[in-house]
Parts: sequence; C-alpha cells; structure tokens
Amino acid sequence: MAKFKGATWRPIASNYRPGGQSSVRGLVVHIMAGTLTGTDSWFRNPAARASSHFGTGKSGALTQWVDTADRAWAQADGNSSWLSIENEGKGGDTLTSAQMDRIADVLAWLHRTHGVPLQVASGPSGRGLGWHAMGGAAWGGHTSCPGPRIVAQLPEIVARAKRLAGSPPADKPKPVYAPFPGVDYFRRHPRSPLITAMGKRLTAEGCGRYASGPGPQWTEADRKSYAAWQRKRGFGGADADGWPGKSTWDALRVPAA
Ligand SMILES: [Zn+2]
Repeated sequence: MAKFKGATWRPIASNYRPGGQSSVRGLVVHIMAGTLTGTDSWFRNPAARASSHFGTGKSGALTQWVDTADRAWAQADGNSSWLSIENEGKGGDTLTSAQMDRIADVLAWLHRTHGVPLQVASGPSGRGLGWHAMGGAAWGGHTSCPGPRIVAQLPEIVARAKRLAGSPPADKPKPVYAPFPGVDYFRRHPRSPLITAMGKRLTAEGCGRYASGPGPQWTEADRKSYAAWQRKRGFGGADADGWPGKSTWDALRVPAA
C-alpha cells in the first residue's frame, strides 16, 4: 500500500488508524462543505475525529493525508474497506473539471496498485468508485454527501480514469474471423488469400512454415504445420490429421480478409 506520487503528501499525526485498512474495495467521493486549506487544518485537530485519504481543491490541487495502508475516518463502517477523497465545495455543488481529473488520476492509480475496477460501485458491498450516501445509516447517514449532482458526474470520472489506464473503448469493434469454408475447400482452392491468412496464424502460433512455393498454396508443409498446431492445441483423432475441420478452424481464428 502506498502514497500516490501525483498528490502532495501532507501526513497527519492523529485521526486515523495505522495499518487499519483491511481491504480496498474502491474510492468513496465526499464533499467537504468547506475549503481544502480549512479541511487540512481540521484533520490536524485531534478533536476532529475525522480524516480522508485524499482531498481535491476546485483548481485541481490534490492532497494525500493518509497512506492507503492506513484507515481514514471518513465513512463509519465503510472505513475498513473503502478509501476516501474529500472535495472542496459545498452541498449542491458540482465538481470542477479539474477535480474530476484529480479523482480520475487517483482511481486509475488505485486500479493499477490495488486492483480497483474502473466502474461506478453498485453499493457498499460492490467495488469501484463510490460515494458517501450509498452507505446509508451504516456509513453515518450522510444522505447529502456528496449530493446528487456530483453522483451524476461519477460515470464521467470513471470514463476519464479508463482513458488514463489505457483501457480499450467499449465501442472497439470485435475482430471478425473467417468462417470455415468447408472440408473440400483446401483441396479445391490450393491458392487463395485464405490460405495465406491461415499460414500467418500458424506461424504466429509457432507452428512452422506455410505457403512454400511461388505463392500462397496448400502444400505438404502446410499440412504438417496444421497438424503440429492441432496437436499443440490438444486436438486428437480425426481433428489432428493436418486438414482443417470446422472445430479446429474455428479454434485457429483466422482473420476474415
Ligand atoms: Zn462524506
């Protein structure tokens, strides 16, 4: 567990439990009802009995007060399994774009270091990006923290964290594979782009040569390569004869031309 290099580290001397973070389900978003500097002072006051791991300012400052190995006191029963981020502002505010970027920074980092999934949490027993009110009475009954306008911003924060983490966009087209052309195809069409594509797949799988001769064609070397691949993938009997059948062809996943 750790400190985030993207945050200004400002440790506090009290108001947290060292080593008390038993698990990390995700990050809970709060609203300060105050300023970043005011919150920083408050967390240093032993009388506060309150803290959070992180805090943002409206202009994009990011502070870390508590190491993620330690338990901050931000959401009652949720403290042992959730990290926390306070945000400068008052009830009814929306987060600034700079604050959303900082939360996304922290979430993407927690994804890498603590395996937190990049999603809006479904509730206290879920994982991902949560918010204080989702914990209900067990989390102190703070039904207005951080407020519905900020809860509505959580999907956008997750989307920004995904871009930071390099996750593929959801609308990335799925690869299309060539359907099995039939048992006789390879005897009747010994020269075709499909043979070339198949040979490239066999080569990529580490199963030898393909398309010996002047151009793409089905040869004895291809048959041996195909048989080697079939054995490597655990096919046997009639599925390991070096000739494509539907099951082995589908498993090879030859890209459609
Ligand atoms: Zn809160």
